[in-house]
Amino acid sequence: MHLQELTAQDRETLKAISVFGEDGTTVRPGRLVAGLDVSPATVTARLKRLHDLGLADHVPYAGVTLTEQGIKVTVTIIRRHRIVERFLVDMLGYGWEEAEELAPHFEHALPRDVVQRLYETLGKPETCPHGFPIPSPDSDSLPMLRSLVELDPGDVAEIAVPSNTDPEVVEYLAELGVHPGVRIKVKDKLPFDGPVTITVNGVDQTVGNKLARMLSVMTPDRSF
Ligand SMILES: [Zn+2]
Repeated sequence: MHLQELTAQDRETLKAISVFGEDGTTVRPGRLVAGLDVSPATVTARLKRLHDLGLADHVPYAGVTLTEQGIKVTVTIIRRHRIVERFLVDMLGYGWEEAEELAPHFEHALPRDVVQRLYETLGKPETCPHGFPIPSPDSDSLPMLRSLVELDPGDVAEIAVPSNTDPEVVEYLAELGVHPGVRIKVKDKLPFDGPVTITVNGVDQTVGNKLARMLSVMTPDRSF
């Protein structure tokens, strides 16, 4: 199967399976309904198409899971999305919260060679403007990040902020000095879903558990 056979909708659905899925490859259809903001019938039809293309399977009780081929294709789609986001922010000056929405207007139409040139012109960035890793084109697994709450005191990480984060939350994070790509160190973590204290730019900040769960982290031992 060639990537060109996939419609923009197919690609957005694959991207959503990866973004909204718990482990990046498996998702419950209900999450896609909310995440893609389409009807359950539309999700069913899109998933059937991906199944017919050999990219996704429905696993009873688990949800929809990407096949090996589906993962490979999704890696390419995500790589392209994150490079285009970088282009919008680094070269055109858009805010990182605007990039996510603008990118799908043209990312799927770009020839592969143009994507590669953008990547090189941008200086081969490691992450998208939200702080998520740009996977290498031949990777056969999706880079998954852990949540801030999974780290232990002493751990150092770079923060990634999901692009669907509420603007008010983004504003609050900015007050704490937390933005995509910022390096933090976990100072303390209280048990039983308590808050996490992090050191950011030399200042200690307390992050509530709910907020800490929303933040992804890229640790130096990352494997992608
Ligand atoms: Zn991004």
